[in-house]
Amino acid sequence: MSAIVLDGLAVREAVVAEVTSRVAALAGRGISVGLATILVGEDPASEVYVRNKRRLAKRIGIKSFHHPLSSNVSQRDVTDLIERLNADPAVDGILLQLPLPGDLNGEDATEFIDPWKDADGLHPTSLGALVLDRGVLTPCTPTGILRILDHYEIPTEGADVVVVGRSFLVGKPLAVMLAGKSRNATVTLAHSQTKNLNDVCKRADILVAAVGVPEFITADFVKPGATVIDVGINRTDAGLVGDVAYEEVSQVAGAITPVPKGVGPMTVAMLMANTVTAAEHCQGL
Ligand code: NAP
Repeated sequence: MSAIVLDGLAVREAVVAEVTSRVAALAGRGISVGLATILVGEDPASEVYVRNKRRLAKRIGIKSFHHPLSSNVSQRDVTDLIERLNADPAVDGILLQLPLPGDLNGEDATEFIDPWKDADGLHPTSLGALVLDRGVLTPCTPTGILRILDHYEIPTEGADVVVVGRSFLVGKPLAVMLAGKSRNATVTLAHSQTKNLNDVCKRADILVAAVGVPEFITADFVKPGATVIDVGINRTDAGLVGDVAYEEVSQVAGAITPVPKGVGPMTVAMLMANTVTAAEHCQGL
């Protein structure tokens, strides 16, 4: 068997078209949409992520306000900037690029973002709303994964889903969203202390890998015909590699996301969608 490739670029374009028309509708009412990006330090990977986000914002018609800060700023400098952006009516969404360098604490800083400008969907209020099945600005990577499943009409209703990795960024919110009443999946959230991980994963109709270990999920973790979502972005000597051993797993899976061009582009697209949702909310729409 050779798995269907779930094309993140194609799904991103569908989201971009939808978001662009919402931005144009707001522009028709004389309202512009603004996204502020905060990048602390000079981490090359973070610089690339922020550049990609600003580039997509520009393409969609979202105004981009970039705030690069040096790596020796204080926690207070970061939160002061966030509070200024909270008060700025031109800014609808605030993206604080994580992780922050050195001793700066990204989770603490995120708490200062106005929940209605929380473009990343990572504020405790946004994450708490997920538990109540009331998420509006939802975390970008999990939401992007759900959009891929929807686009390819892969049902979650009643599906056994195994998510490997319990970060607050990906695994935990995704598990909550899938288990919610709009998705109705039966979810197992696995992590480094999970026993018999191979057997657990092999039960999955949908297997999500958010581990951060290159090619961690091999073919013997995968039920024949399962959908495999690879969240991993690992920079290795061989280039960009996911958390799934793509060549061998794609011989067993029914559908699979590649790395790159899988989940990654969706994360950026959902950031734009959240920014526009925040702008619409601000206008009472
Ligand atoms: P993270 O915070 O490092 O969390 C990794 C998770 O994997 C932890 O829950 C850890 O378990 C679990 N884990 C580690 N080794 C394991 C093992 N041997 N067996 C089972 N579980 C294990 O990572 P993250 O932020 O979620 O990121 C995961 C990957 O996704 C990274 O490659 C990252 O670059 C990528 N990523 C991609 C996107 C995108 O847009 N595509 C977005 C975000 C992240 P414990 O909790 O027990 O330690």
